Amino acid sequence: MPSGRLMCSSDLLPLPGRGLPLQCSGCTVRSERKDSLQQNCWSKYLLQHSPAPVRLKCLSAFGSQIVHHFTKRIQTKIKDLLQQMEEGLKTADPHDCSAYTGWTGIALLYLQLYRVTCDQTYLLRSLDYVKRTLRNLNGRRVTFLCGDAGPLAVGAVVYHKLKSDCESQECITKLLQLQRSVVCRESDLPDELLYGRAGYLYALLYVNSEVGPGAVCESAIKEVVDAIIESGKSLSREEKKAERCPLLYQWHRKQYVGAAHGMAGIYYMLMQPAAKVDQEILTEMVKPSIDYMRHKRFRSGNYPSSLSNETDRLVHWCHGAPGVIHMLMQAYKVFKEEKYLKDAMECSDVIWQRGLLRKGYGICHGAAGNGYSFLSLYHLTQDKKYLYRACKFAEWCLEYGAHGCRIPDRPYSLFEGMAGAIHFLSDILVPETSRFPAFELGSSQGDAKMQKDY
Ligand SMILES: [Zn+2]
Repeated sequence: MPSGRLMCSSDLLPLPGRGLPLQCSGCTVRSERKDSLQQNCWSKYLLQHSPAPVRLKCLSAFGSQIVHHFTKRIQTKIKDLLQQMEEGLKTADPHDCSAYTGWTGIALLYLQLYRVTCDQTYLLRSLDYVKRTLRNLNGRRVTFLCGDAGPLAVGAVVYHKLKSDCESQECITKLLQLQRSVVCRESDLPDELLYGRAGYLYALLYVNSEVGPGAVCESAIKEVVDAIIESGKSLSREEKKAERCPLLYQWHRKQYVGAAHGMAGIYYMLMQPAAKVDQEILTEMVKPSIDYMRHKRFRSGNYPSSLSNETDRLVHWCHGAPGVIHMLMQAYKVFKEEKYLKDAMECSDVIWQRGLLRKGYGICHGAAGNGYSFLSLYHLTQDKKYLYRACKFAEWCLEYGAHGCRIPDRPYSLFEGMAGAIHFLSDILVPETSRFPAFELGSSQGDAKMQKDY
C-alpha cells in the first residue's frame, strides 16, 4: 500500500459484531423473531398507518406507474431524507471510502437519483464524491463493496456518463490492475461478495453493464470466474462433498449461505449472463450446489446463515431468505425449472411475514434491503402482489425513525443507513428498472426505456 494514503475505515473502525471483526453488523443482532414484527402486528400497522386511498389503490390499481398520491409522498420524503443525510454526513468518517458504509455508497446513491430523474445536478453531486474517493484509494481490499474496486468502478461509470472518456478509462485501467491479486491461487483471498473474488467480479460486470460491453475484456472476467470455480472445487474436494455440492465456499472457516458472505452471493454472480460461465459448469457444478443449499432451508422457508447453523432467526439480505431469493430467481432464469421460482415465492412469504426489522431501514440488514426482494420478484413474475409488498415496505421507510428501530453504526451510509433507504424509495418510483445496489446488474436498454416512460 502506498504510504501516506488514507485507509478505508472499514478496516479501522471497531465493528459491532464482537468476536467476528469483519462481518457485517447485522450478523450478530438478537433473535430475529423478537426483532421483526409478527404478522398480526403488521396487519394492525396497516390498518392504523396506511392512508385508505393508498391501501385501496395498492390492492387494485398498481400498474407500471405507482399512483400519483403515493409517488408524491415518496418524492417529498426523498428530499427530506437527503437533507438529513447530507447534514449527518458532516460528522461521518472522512476516511471511509467504501460503497458499503462510506463515500462511494453516497456517490452510488446520487448516480441512482440521476438515473431515475435525469437531473444532471445529481450526476455532478456523484462526481464530487467520486473525486473524493479516488484521492483516497488504499490498496487494502479488492471488492466493489469494501475495497478499491468500488470507487474505481463507480468512477469509471460517472466519468463515462459525463463523457470524460480519458478519466473513465483511467479508472478501468486501475481496476484491472487489481485483477492479478484476485486470481492469484496462492492468496488467501476469500470468494464471497463483501471481501472476496465475487465482489471483484461484480465490479467488472457493473462496469460492462454501465459503460458498455467490452469496457472490461472477456478474458479478464473469465480469469476471475475460473479462480472462483477452482476455489469452490478445491474446498468441496477437501470436505468430501464433491458429489453433493461441487462448489463449496467458506469465509473465516464457516460455510456461509447468504448473499453477503456466503454461497448465495457467489452462485448469484456466477449465474449472471455477463459472467459467461460455461453452460456445462452451470449445469454440472453450480446447479447441484444450489440444490444442496435448497435442502438446508428451514421448514419456515427461511435459510440458515451458515451450513452448520440450525437457528432460524435472521431474515436479512446478508443472512437468510432476502439474499437467497435473488439466487433462486436467477436459477429459475438460467435453468428454467419451476422449483426455483416456487422456492423464491416461499422466501418472499417469509420476508413478508418477518422482514420488517427493528434493526433499521438499511439495505444490508434492514427493511429496504428486504423490500428489494419483492421488487425483483415483481420483475420476474409481473405479479402485482409483489409490487404491493414492496410498496408496503416503502411505506414503512417513509416513517423513517418513527418505529424505535436500532440506530446503525454508520447511520447515513448506503448499506447500513439512510442512503440505502433513499435508494430503495427512489426505486419504488420506477419499479420496472429497480435494482439492489452493488448486487443486481442493470441493462442500459432497460434504463433507456425507463427514462422515456418517466
Ligand atoms: Zn448485514
